[in-house]
Amino acid sequence: MSHINNPMEIFKLLNGSNCRECNENTCLAFAVAVFKEKKPIHGCPYLEKEVIDRYEGAVEKPNTVDEYKAKAIEALKQKISLIDLSEAAKRLGARFADNKLTLKVFGKNFSVDTKGNLSSEIHINAYMVVPVLNHILNGSGKSPDGNWITFRELTGGSSRYAHFQQRCEKPLKRVADTYTGLFKDMLEIFDGKQIVSHIDSDISIVLHPLPLFPIMVCYWKPEDGLESSLHIYFDSASDDNLDIESNYTMNEGIALMFEKIALRHGG
Ligand code: SF4
Repeated sequence: MSHINNPMEIFKLLNGSNCRECNENTCLAFAVAVFKEKKPIHGCPYLEKEVIDRYEGAVEKPNTVDEYKAKAIEALKQKISLIDLSEAAKRLGARFADNKLTLKVFGKNFSVDTKGNLSSEIHINAYMVVPVLNHILNGSGKSPDGNWITFRELTGGSSRYAHFQQRCEKPLKRVADTYTGLFKDMLEIFDGKQIVSHIDSDISIVLHPLPLFPIMVCYWKPEDGLESSLHIYFDSASDDNLDIESNYTMNEGIALMFEKIALRHGG
């Protein structure tokens, strides 16, 4: 049986006609209802039996992942409480005041104190907290050098690239394909800056999940029978500031955030 981790994975199986035979107003609403286990996937009469057999009951329960991440966060907070946070702030070009290190996550303040307690101007989930704490613990503070490279070119990236495409680039591409205007707005909500890059994409936006860890999201619209495509690029100094696992986790979190916003506002 295949596993379903988010509503967009169900949405992409549907024909997108919004015919309402499932008693939902849109295919997207049906996908959300299936994901929340309020409707069975066979509620759409247009799905092939083979697809229904593959996906019936396939919604992944997030508890195990949540528990795993909660444990990882507790372990990282413990480590934070053992380091010199003022030294870490100097190393990373962050601010240290009132026993708190503060840096910007997507342009908003994120603080951790000497006991490992977190506070933030924005809601950030475990997908963000784990990489941010790893960055505070292990980031070298090397400044971005403006050379953009692929995930595959980062240390340890090639063996994880297939997963990265599946869990990070493809979900973002689906959001961009379905709601191109909203996708652009969302990048801007996250303090993204549209740039003209040497990569000849229709949309190129730089985001700063962390001040020393910029990412560039490039989207090519479908054209002349060619499929759309989306790729995420990294500064070549990224390896010095975030390990590959944290990088992967952060991008997975970004893709999930975009999917959630698209589902809430894009229908
Ligand atoms: S019946 Fe299927 S195709 Fe029609 S709106 Fe519902 S999910 Fe979409």
